[in-house]
Amino acid sequence: MTEVVLGIDVGGTKTLAAAFAAESLLGTRAGQAAPTALDALRVPTAATAGPNGIVDQLAGLVERLRSHVGAPRAVGVGFPGLIDHRDGVVHSSVILPGWDGGFALAAALRERCGMPVLADNDATCAGWGEYLVRRGEVEHLLVLTIGTGIGGAIVLGGRLHRGASNTSAEFGNMTIDWRGEDHSSGNRGCLNTLASGTAIARRAWRAGACGALGEPPTLEQIATAAAAGDTAAAEAIETGAEALGTGIANLLNAFNPGCVALTGGVLGLGPRWLSTVRKTALSRAFPLNAAHANIEECRAGQLAGAFGAAALAWDRFGAVR
Ligand SMILES: [Zn+2]
Repeated sequence: MTEVVLGIDVGGTKTLAAAFAAESLLGTRAGQAAPTALDALRVPTAATAGPNGIVDQLAGLVERLRSHVGAPRAVGVGFPGLIDHRDGVVHSSVILPGWDGGFALAAALRERCGMPVLADNDATCAGWGEYLVRRGEVEHLLVLTIGTGIGGAIVLGGRLHRGASNTSAEFGNMTIDWRGEDHSSGNRGCLNTLASGTAIARRAWRAGACGALGEPPTLEQIATAAAAGDTAAAEAIETGAEALGTGIANLLNAFNPGCVALTGGVLGLGPRWLSTVRKTALSRAFPLNAAHANIEECRAGQLAGAFGAAALAWDRFGAVR
């Protein structure tokens, strides 16, 4: 009988829970188009309900999937915050309120569901999901999530590189302009201040793109305005892309990856944005490093985070009977 593993991707606005057949979680030698779930549910995140409310919600999702696909062996949760994957304790979240001070998410959900639970950072899970889709094609992979903020994951030699405090891949806090704008991270001129969705929208707004608005335009408004000839909007897109490309050039030199895969809302800015990112990165990196790196969109799609979380849970608990 097929063993079932659940993966849950907790987002700032939406939470996606999916059931996977255990054998699909290893990736394939030839790579695969995108992960396939046995079943998937998407609900608005109970963002303001705090840790106990989120645990209630996750337990409810596990229960619904259990009734559809049978008893799962384990659950993996990708959570948007600072979290220790070894004990599943969340230390803080800038996306969800009420998580400062340490909450044992994995233990609380295990208590409710009566099955093993692994909890890990959401970008780490998505990065691992992307790697599994490309397993056999690439050994050294960097994944960048470019949305409101910038995060990501590092896979080296087919393994997640987590770092000494499990907080590697904070690409958004990488310095591009050392005298630049202050950032809430405590740094200044970091990629978050220059290339994130927030930064692009603010830049467009200050330059009067999309007409005089009371608040920064959405990325969609900026993309539409740029396509219609709004030069301030086009310049904001171009500047964000150049800053990101510069950051990626640094990563190419530091890690010499075979692939840099990009995902997140900012990719909605379109092919011109991506081509500027690519051109900037490749022209600034050491030529040999540039020659070996594909810079492209993530392939794992919407399920990446849930898929990676399930796979990490299966890695940890699959052999335990
Ligand atoms: Zn920063």
